[in-house]
Amino acid sequence: MRIARFTTGDEPRYGVVGQDGAADEIAVITGDPLYTPIQYTGERLALDGVRLLAPVIPRSKVIGIGRNYADHIQEMAGQMSEPPPPEPLVFLKPNTSVIGPDDPIVRPPQSTEVHYEGELAVVIGRLCQVVLGYTCANDVTARDLQRKDGQWSRAKGFDSFCPLGPWIVTDLDVSDLRLITRLDGVTVQDGRTSQLLFDVPTLVAHASTIFTLLPGDVICTGTPAGVGPMRAGQRVEVEIEGIGTLGNPVVDRS
Ligand code: MG
Repeated sequence: MRIARFTTGDEPRYGVVGQDGAADEIAVITGDPLYTPIQYTGERLALDGVRLLAPVIPRSKVIGIGRNYADHIQEMAGQMSEPPPPEPLVFLKPNTSVIGPDDPIVRPPQSTEVHYEGELAVVIGRLCQVVLGYTCANDVTARDLQRKDGQWSRAKGFDSFCPLGPWIVTDLDVSDLRLITRLDGVTVQDGRTSQLLFDVPTLVAHASTIFTLLPGDVICTGTPAGVGPMRAGQRVEVEIEGIGTLGNPVVDRS
């Protein structure tokens, strides 16, 4: 099931994309699927007639996982020479960094080196159903500030630095999915979630030993090799097999 959050100009609503095989339609549901069972209103809308929003606005936190693909650790070795972490390397992104599909990633004037990082994101559900589903994330990172600051709150925390979408897919086996990042249509990252050093169940369990995981919290699971800079005017896409494509334009803060 593909759960989307969308607007037609008024308050955000939720719907299920592709219900009954209608891939280009969204079946509207009542309430917030994080807290209420899926119940259809009977209204159906054309997918291209709505604006998709970030499928979830985390109430409390976006948890990031650093250095979770061996090939990415290798490519970063010149900048931060450290071995693979012995346990998941955890950081936080503020929920104010979350944007949705087609919202602009805004490059702040403090950085000249804003990178994309395509990632699988886990969306936490209710206590009785720990994982609600999965979506695509772009863990946008000001690489120069990451090196300069030593810790990562600023480098990864700017407004618009956590695009999520296009929707949440439930009932998905994420143990071996292809993840591709494209910059202006050119493939720059091409990995598989089977290459995660710490897999999703391990990450959820590890994060649970630190934080209370609330419904709507998100865990970004780490990025494969191929990270690189984005310029204003470019468009970045993160595509994950079985989920879909998250695309965002890049602009400079005016
Ligand atoms: Mg990352």
